Amino acid sequence: MSFGPEPVLSGGLEEVRVRRGRRSGLPIAIAIDHLVDGHALGGCRCKPYPSVDEAVRDVQRLAHAMTFKAGAAGLRMGGGKGVIAAPAGEPLAGELRQGALRDFAELIESFGGAYITGQDVGTSVADIAFMGRFTEHVAGHPVGDGGCGDPSPFTAHGVEVAIRASLPGGSVRGKHVVVVGLGHVGGALAGRLLAGGARLTVSDVTDGARELADRLGAGWVEPDAALDVEADLLAPCALGGMIDHQAIARLRVAVVAGAANNQLSDDSVADKLAARGILYAPDFIANAGGLIAVESEWRLKGYDPDQVERGVEGIGDTLAEVYTRARSDGTSTLTAAAALSAQRSAAATGAPPGPADHRVAA
Ligand code: NAD
Repeated sequence: MSFGPEPVLSGGLEEVRVRRGRRSGLPIAIAIDHLVDGHALGGCRCKPYPSVDEAVRDVQRLAHAMTFKAGAAGLRMGGGKGVIAAPAGEPLAGELRQGALRDFAELIESFGGAYITGQDVGTSVADIAFMGRFTEHVAGHPVGDGGCGDPSPFTAHGVEVAIRASLPGGSVRGKHVVVVGLGHVGGALAGRLLAGGARLTVSDVTDGARELADRLGAGWVEPDAALDVEADLLAPCALGGMIDHQAIARLRVAVVAGAANNQLSDDSVADKLAARGILYAPDFIANAGGLIAVESEWRLKGYDPDQVERGVEGIGDTLAEVYTRARSDGTSTLTAAAALSAQRSAAATGAPPGPADHRVAA
């Protein structure tokens, strides 16, 4: 992968721009998967990558998922995403972090408002506020500035709605749920599930999460054994790709519904889950709560809690429609969700149906 002023064009995508930051020297990339009314929204992820190619593949995959997420949520918004490839082995802090964020803001500006960024894994509300000094095309401003703040609580709320919609009886009371990844979303989700009367087993790679599990009174399982726990539902809330072909045979749950983007290693895993009788809540529907909040803030130029609450609660109806459609069409829930997303996107924009094929960039 080379860096340069020219955009890198890639089949199926609108555009990907890759740069080495002028200030930080770090690789940064923005992918626009699909534009609606000239706009695409998706957060800025900041983490180390083994190579620039990996970072570019990730940003494309994530941007593609945003297209489906916005479509299924009925938003007039396209899908995009950004990444900052952080140095390995050390936190990105101080002047280097500020330089990288300014580099990223500069790349956002190069799209002339077509790409809008928000918070994602590895970035914070403070980072959004900082970038907002250099570009207006950011959303998820601090609550004190009239924004919706950290999108994670909205995402956790939406995942809880998705979990309820996926369990028989529509309630988590008395149900055993395994939450993998006790970070911003998983931690908030765990609190919501416990408040609803669920029994929890949780897993994470950090010691801090173990302490949180103890405080919550949740059971603990090491990450490499989390797939083997017998429970009602598995909620993947760490990074993507947790459910691969090997994982399917190990699962001892009736439902998979969580926050992580791109939970399935590839789309064919959805068919195998269906064949095993495991109900899969497509990630881009279950985890849309944060996008719904951030898009609303961007559109209204401020945070309207009632509108956002209605949108996040609507995830339950969307999933119910997906499940009905999958049953009647004899498809996986992923296929049904991708079709619904394309249909809603077309209805919202008046444009011809978008890509019904959810295949992720390899
Ligand atoms: P986070 O970084 O705060 O939390 C992720 C947690 O997963 C961390 O505690 C980390 O230690 C843990 N983890 C990492 N690898 C693990 C492993 N192998 N096994 C167990 N735990 C592991 O991130 P987040 O904001 O909570 O997001 C979680 C997931 O949800 C991500 O995939 C993200 O893309 C997705 N998501 C988040 C939002 C949001 O609003 N934050 C919105 C949509 C989707």
